[in-house]
Amino acid sequence: MTTSTTDVPGATIAQRLEGVRARIRAACERVGRDASTVTLVGVSKTFPIEVISGGLAAGLTDFGENRAQEFVPKARAAVEAGLAPRWHFIGHLQRNKVADVVPHIDVLHSLDSLRLIEAVSSARCPSGLGGGADAPNPLPCYLEVNVAGESQKLGVRPADVGALLAAAAAAPGIEVRGLMTVAPFVEDPEAARTTFRDLREIAAAHGLDGLSMGMTNDFEVAIEEGATVVRVGRAIFGDRLA
Ligand SMILES: *Cc1c(COP(=O)(O)O)cnc(C)c1O
Repeated sequence: MTTSTTDVPGATIAQRLEGVRARIRAACERVGRDASTVTLVGVSKTFPIEVISGGLAAGLTDFGENRAQEFVPKARAAVEAGLAPRWHFIGHLQRNKVADVVPHIDVLHSLDSLRLIEAVSSARCPSGLGGGADAPNPLPCYLEVNVAGESQKLGVRPADVGALLAAAAAAPGIEVRGLMTVAPFVEDPEAARTTFRDLREIAAAHGLDGLSMGMTNDFEVAIEEGATVVRVGRAIFGDRLA
């Protein structure tokens, strides 16, 4: 019996990862989707760089982090170790951390205000022009939506999605791929289904098909409801260290 998930990071992560991939395939089969349409992001927050190398060795390519103070040193350590994960920033991003975080990330899942859109745009595209031979590729982003309307949760109200998408479309250096949400935490994953369905409908109403939704507790339901990106931590890496 395994009591620790980090004794042998590579081996243990590989087994857990295969289990998660099998569950993703089964969820896709239930609704007639191709499993290649679902990107798995392994949420590595709280775990050290050894877990990133273990995940990469097991075939995981995409990693998610939610805190700038933890992420930036980890991203630098990865570069120094010669590792090249694709980094997804999935937590609330304060504007004063944008300049530190944006150069290291491949995808931002948590656009949630006009001011953040402006800050990310100017960090990605300092000239403000967005064109020209030297302009970097736009950063793929998701707008975080507070679908369930919980007052303590981050994300924009569904009614504000249109205005923020318009602002993001006009901001050089940003390319909105879709919407992201965190469902209310409940034991029964079925309870998250309406949240995921609502996010899909809001996205469709705005012509978007990227849906970043689903975590350890509810990723299969999210896939059944159309998730194109699932963000899974504990099911791959075990219980968090802090
Ligand atoms: C921590 C986190 C996850 C992963 O949660 P698990 O329950 O470990 O799968 C996914 N999304 C966000 C935004 C998170 O902060």
